[in-house]
Amino acid sequence: MKFYNTLTKSKDEFIPLEEGKVRMYVCGPTVYNLIHIGNARPMIVFDTLRRYMEYKGYEVNYVSNFTDVDDKIINAAIEEGVDAETISTRYIAECKKDMEEMNILPATVHPQATKEIDGMIRMISTLIDKGYAYDVNGTVYFRTRRFDEYGKLSHKNLDDLRSGNRDIKVTGEEQKEDPLDFVLWKPKKEGEPFWESPWSEGRPGWHIECSVMAGKYLGDEIDIHGGGEDLIFPHHENEIAQSECCNGVPFARYWLHNAFLRVNNEKMSKSLGNFFTVRDICNEYSGQILRFFTLSAHYRSPLNFSREIMESSANSLERILTAAERLKDLLAKLEGDMKEEEKAKLAELTSFRTEFENAMDDDINTADAVSAVFKLVKFANVEVNGDSSKEFAEKVMKELEELCGILGIKTERKAEILDSEIEEMIAQRQAARKERNFALADEIRDKLAGMGIILEDTREGVKWKRA
Ligand code: AMP
Ligand code: ZN
Repeated sequence: MKFYNTLTKSKDEFIPLEEGKVRMYVCGPTVYNLIHIGNARPMIVFDTLRRYMEYKGYEVNYVSNFTDVDDKIINAAIEEGVDAETISTRYIAECKKDMEEMNILPATVHPQATKEIDGMIRMISTLIDKGYAYDVNGTVYFRTRRFDEYGKLSHKNLDDLRSGNRDIKVTGEEQKEDPLDFVLWKPKKEGEPFWESPWSEGRPGWHIECSVMAGKYLGDEIDIHGGGEDLIFPHHENEIAQSECCNGVPFARYWLHNAFLRVNNEKMSKSLGNFFTVRDICNEYSGQILRFFTLSAHYRSPLNFSREIMESSANSLERILTAAERLKDLLAKLEGDMKEEEKAKLAELTSFRTEFENAMDDDINTADAVSAVFKLVKFANVEVNGDSSKEFAEKVMKELEELCGILGIKTERKAEILDSEIEEMIAQRQAARKERNFALADEIRDKLAGMGIILEDTREGVKWKRA
């Protein structure tokens, strides 16, 4: 397996630190809102990588965090008049629902920053003791000049960055020794969540959380670190600085970064306001279609979102599902062992798997892996029919299921929900509301939403429609 490694700027052969095992960390979302389909891209890509490595026999320890302490969460809390934890707890739960909808497996661990503060304080203390960090009036900064290799991931010219940064010093950070020094700990502001520390009552900076969580759950040295390309600098550069200065060993061997999902050739982001939530897109199409759309491009190529491409992804996925359905119907009728002429086709049948694996081994080329699946679909449509043996049809079906499974694509169509079932669930929701069990009522509404059923509360009662 080869990966394009941002650190070396080349496609490097994957050699795990420990044979048969993979330690992988992927930066997760900041939970102040529903996630958008751009955030879904790294989740889908790295879930697919994890599935593929498991298929190849690796034991994968996959850690992906939730950033649950951050200015955006605090602002959302102030706006709603609730505490920050209410916001983060809510959106972690919502994110998990979205993940399930996109058939993203839960990570081995999903640590939360607020539950790892002790570890962060310990790491910051070590960095101060070793001379890599300093405290000024309760704010602790990392001393970038002390780390000779600072900049090795982003391949940036640091002197240019330094001179550029000098003019745009943020108020309150004049006390930094160097414009590139970054915050490890900052004192609380009025009304913000805070923790006790040797330096001030305050909270950690963003970068330290990933260094600490990766170290705690995976060890000081890890195999793969992933995330979107916007994180290369400063976030991942800073993670390297913190971890390597604290632990004295190289942090991650392979740094993988996905390109951005775009709309009208602009990056999709919450700050630009040009985003679509995973929830809306799953309701309009489905989590499977969104996943298929994401994997139809190589993860390092920018991917443009449009309804036309979503429609064409829906049609492509439909072709796979139709082929699988046809095979299943045939399987119910077919009998017998493989015939001689079918045995002669086995080499062609296994060639699709080889092509699939070659594509995935070449820097996770899911676009080519998907093409291999389509070749298999065509083969299935042409070579399996009412005259085939059961054994042969089963073999073809197994290939299709397995390759689709690695991509997280289910070959079973989602069961159609009957009108009577919907109405029964709506009645249960009404009953829950009457009992003021709003949590249950919301759960039922979300479950219906997950099945593509949209509810509207009107004066005449609850109306519903299929998305
Ligand atoms: P955030 O919640 O902003 O910290 O982002 C969570 C993850 O989503 C990070 O790995 C980001 O790099 C990634 N990400 C955010 N926006 C996009 C986008 N438009 N396309 C691809 N990845 C994105
Ligand atoms: Zn991170």
